[in-house]
Amino acid sequence: MACVTLTDTTKVYPGGVKAVDRVSLAIADEEFIVLVGPSGCGKSTTLRMIAGLEEATSGTIRIGDRVVNDVPPKDRDIAMVFQNYALYPHMSVYKNMAFSLHLRRRELGLSKAEIDRKVREAAVMLGIEGLLDRKPKALSGGQRQRVAVGRAIVRNPKAFLFDEPLSNLDAKLRVEMRAELKRLQRRLRTTTIYVTHDQEEAMTLGDRIVVMKDGVVQQCAPPLEVYDRPVNRFVAAFVGTPPMNFLNGRIVRQNGGLAFDEGTSVLPLPTSLVRSLERHADQAMVLGVRPDGFSVEAPPGGPHARLGVKVNLVEPLGDRKDVYMTTAAQKALVGRVDGRISVVEGQELHMFIDMNRVHVFEPGEMGVNVTATRGGAQASAN
Ligand code: ADP
Repeated sequence: MACVTLTDTTKVYPGGVKAVDRVSLAIADEEFIVLVGPSGCGKSTTLRMIAGLEEATSGTIRIGDRVVNDVPPKDRDIAMVFQNYALYPHMSVYKNMAFSLHLRRRELGLSKAEIDRKVREAAVMLGIEGLLDRKPKALSGGQRQRVAVGRAIVRNPKAFLFDEPLSNLDAKLRVEMRAELKRLQRRLRTTTIYVTHDQEEAMTLGDRIVVMKDGVVQQCAPPLEVYDRPVNRFVAAFVGTPPMNFLNGRIVRQNGGLAFDEGTSVLPLPTSLVRSLERHADQAMVLGVRPDGFSVEAPPGGPHARLGVKVNLVEPLGDRKDVYMTTAAQKALVGRVDGRISVVEGQELHMFIDMNRVHVFEPGEMGVNVTATRGGAQASAN
């Protein structure tokens, strides 16, 4: 086990695409870290540089205390699990799992009996001990994925690297396997770096998540901190479903305090935000409201504001319902409200907004969250 450290790591592919741009990350020993972001943001390239499958153009990569930039993949003591499993089709499950150990048996000083013990132990851990004689083609997708993980476990590596390992599985199995991977990592305590484009997978798996865009780390923090204190509008929009609503408007002065004028309603802002917003008074800004920040009835306690809306569509989800709505000034808003409350399409009503939970961003797709550090808490941009 080991920490993994990237310092100003950059990758420019031949042809000039800068896939990874000065990424610095300190991944702690035993940590489960998830690289997440839209397709093409550079997460696989980052992982492949750690694995040694791509050479870094500049910057350093350390595994433990050792700089590994020039160390070939096989000598980095890491195990990688891919989306396509990459199992040997002609070998049994047992042989697939034992293969890399047999190859390096002398180097690792392992007896055949020790290899056998490792393979069987890993198989039990993954619940595939009854499948050891089967060939990969006689396995389901989930079972193949377990074999691929088993093959990584037996090597007892310094770190596991996972590249979208669950994307080929159906939705139900994906949820099961991700819980299993999390349990396994807790048990083995092996430093794990996991790549996914799925923000929900990232939120549920990571001790910390690293949100990337265009090769640049936007935020690196525990999942809840990223959710509650996104550093910018990109991160705010990427994490959470349905995504955060963004209302265009202005910060205005009202009754000795500040308010957000969204064009049709003026929403008083709580005093806790005045310090961070004072310098933006009279400026065009963007108000961020999570879907569950809306409610049909006044939320208990706390400051709330009323927003006049027209309901266009209601999607019942059982205990909750998603309400798609507009104001004269805002084109598309979605609120997630209590499922038992009656709201119908075409209805005009006042929605309440829990103003303790709103965010205020500078304009633009990458607008900085000027309220991310409210209450003295530090949002960590990496
Ligand atoms: P992600 O894993 O986030 O989808 P990648 O790391 O695969 O992103 O890719 C990052 C960027 O680098 C993309 O613009 C992609 O097109 C480009 N890229 C990836 N691999 C290569 C390659 N071998 N040659 C040139 N460009 C590449």
